[in-house]
Amino acid sequence: MAYYQTILGRRSKWAEDYNLVWGKVFHKVAEVWSKTGEVQDVQEIIASNLEEENDDRYGRNQFKMQEAFLAWAKFRVADPIQILRAEQPAVVACLDQACPYSDNGCGLTYGGKLDQIVRWQAMVGPLDFKTTVRDESDPISEFKPSHQMEGYVWLTSHLMGKHCWGVIVERIIANKSKIKVDRFPIPSTKDQIREWVETEKITHAEIQAKFATHSNNELHWKQNKHRCAQPYMCRFRDVCLSPQSFEFRYRWLRDNTREDRFDFRKDEKASSPSEVPDGA
Ligand code: SF4
Ligand SMILES: [Zn+2]
Repeated sequence: MAYYQTILGRRSKWAEDYNLVWGKVFHKVAEVWSKTGEVQDVQEIIASNLEEENDDRYGRNQFKMQEAFLAWAKFRVADPIQILRAEQPAVVACLDQACPYSDNGCGLTYGGKLDQIVRWQAMVGPLDFKTTVRDESDPISEFKPSHQMEGYVWLTSHLMGKHCWGVIVERIIANKSKIKVDRFPIPSTKDQIREWVETEKITHAEIQAKFATHSNNELHWKQNKHRCAQPYMCRFRDVCLSPQSFEFRYRWLRDNTREDRFDFRKDEKASSPSEVPDGA
């Protein structure tokens, strides 16, 4: 999936899961609001990415998103956070200089798109939005530090030159009967991050070794015999795990993807339509 999406620049043709679309639209709304403070801009994003009438079984449509946005904007006023850095793509190569986790560098290159780096009640960390329909009473156990969250912490700590506290989550619950916003921090210790670095280095080495033996030739992709531990839905699952032939695999990949290179350096307005497909 990573190779197909990031290197070949081909993504699934099929409309994304509504949860994902909803989450992406909220991210975009929050990002644009933080940048421009223009309600008009927010309205445009909502109108061009969500249906007015049709909603999913949780009642999520344009109107619900407007409500969610308003609730979140009010929450930000009532309980402000300080934004230290705005949303940005970042790649950090921590190779041989002292850093928050090692005297000689982590020996790792890693990157991603961070929402914002914020300070809240003396805690500094990357901010992450979680959109959900369920109001879990114990959100911290719901969002235990994931591999990706630790990556955010690693990235943020290197950008800030200091081990940051953890991920600060803003949770936006929206369903038929409720709109609710809250915020809670998910801590990561220095040792957890060091452990994450080690796991990440092993993964990178494995990926490189695979490319070295199988080349980047998609005609030679073998079945994934290890199953898949990713908790989220992956559009490549059918082909990834299928025991079929090389030809089947190649054809499936070509038939079910289209060129869609995600370039986060692109002007935001120009890139939004390809990031959030219409819900057809
Ligand atoms: S099914 Fe799992 S292992 Fe296969 S491409 Fe998707 S995320 Fe990767
Ligand atoms: Zn480092």
